[in-house]
Amino acid sequence: MIWNTNKECMPREQMRDLQGKRLQKLVSYVYHNVPFYRNKMQEMDLSPDDIRSIDDIVKLPFTTKQDLRDNYPYGLQAAPASEIVRVHASSGTTGNPTIVGYTRRDLAIWSEVMSRCLSAFGVTRNDTFSVSYGYGLFTGGLGAHYGVENLGATVIPASTGNTEKHLRLIRDLNITGIACTPSYALYLAEVIERMGLSKDDLHLHIGAFGAEPWTENMRQEIQQRLGLKGYNIYGLSEIMGPGVSYECEEQHGSHINEDHFYPEIIDPDTLEVLPHGQTGELVFTTLTKEGMPLLRYRTKDLCSLMEGTCPCGRTNIRMTPIMGRSDDMLIIRGINVFPSQVESVILEMKEFEPQYLLVVDRKNNLDTLEVQVEVRRDFFSDDIGAMLGLKKKLSDKLKSVLSINADVKLVEPNSIQRSEGKSKRVIDKRKLV
Ligand code: ADP
Ligand code: ZN
Repeated sequence: MIWNTNKECMPREQMRDLQGKRLQKLVSYVYHNVPFYRNKMQEMDLSPDDIRSIDDIVKLPFTTKQDLRDNYPYGLQAAPASEIVRVHASSGTTGNPTIVGYTRRDLAIWSEVMSRCLSAFGVTRNDTFSVSYGYGLFTGGLGAHYGVENLGATVIPASTGNTEKHLRLIRDLNITGIACTPSYALYLAEVIERMGLSKDDLHLHIGAFGAEPWTENMRQEIQQRLGLKGYNIYGLSEIMGPGVSYECEEQHGSHINEDHFYPEIIDPDTLEVLPHGQTGELVFTTLTKEGMPLLRYRTKDLCSLMEGTCPCGRTNIRMTPIMGRSDDMLIIRGINVFPSQVESVILEMKEFEPQYLLVVDRKNNLDTLEVQVEVRRDFFSDDIGAMLGLKKKLSDKLKSVLSINADVKLVEPNSIQRSEGKSKRVIDKRKLV
């Protein structure tokens, strides 16, 4: 179902017009309330009057994660402290957390965009929905929570941890939908099997998965093991939290809530805006935010924007799945490697569990890549020949996809650490020295 036809199916011209009007208002707001932006604009000889339509966005300065750190904690806040009703922080996957304050209106918009996502996934008032993102400073838990309530479904604020108890609740309360990271969804599947339950004992049919990159193969694996349909949901705390973009039933790219978050794709080196279809760094401008509005925030997430209308009827532009963050891209012997490439290869092979770890190191001045992967119980054996054959099969496939040699290390089922939140799939020892 489409939650807000007016905003999700708006004719393109009208949307550009709305975005232009909102941008003008935003620029004037930050110019008068955030010294950081006023100084930047003055340095560029730019005044709020220079922004007349959405096309003028290219004149505006970028904002980086470093800018947020330099202005820690509240330097980029535009609303007075008396208007801030909640504070979250980014999970700090790649450094110190950044602090984000929300006004009452920001929270209302967040619930609205979350309701659009959940509706697109097929959630209705009749669903009972478990929010299994962490509650707390992380935006996942509370963000999804209020979206479910706003939609009118029943929310079960399960958070993470205590997975067996959670699974019993899923069974006993007839929980039909769940929001969590894809890695937690996999972990749930394992615990179901360990408890002697089957997916048929549960009534889960919708999964809202996000907060970390995941591949199409991972989706198939989770869907098959949990007996549900898994949808992608994307977001980041600096911009709002979950709910920035979401898949519809077509599952062909994620629609961006463009009336609130204006997307651009740039070349991270030249900072030039790239045409639709080209992959680069995703940049967002928060068109309606009051607490901590951001101009052209560089997310470091790599993807492209998709042209064309979607059969679902929504006109909002779509983004392709995130390949990874520019920070996650490993450069090994000069070759770019994304963990998602390794994931695709491993999940295509029936011999392996969807659990892996990349260990990068430097030995004798040469980069090395070790890929640890769990062999499924049925395929794990004492037969050295069979194990060597399996190792070679994976090494060859990795070589053809990555163009470099990886040292494959087969490990026993259940030996790689599981994650309840964002998974950690890379250890780069080169950074530790
Ligand atoms: P942190 O940057 O500390 O992880 P957040 O908790 O705000 O902070 O996480 C936002 C980031 O999580 C995004 O910038 C993106 O890298 C990742 N992310 C969120 N949702 C998705 C998704 N659906 N697919 C891929 N990556 C995602
Ligand atoms: Zn669609």
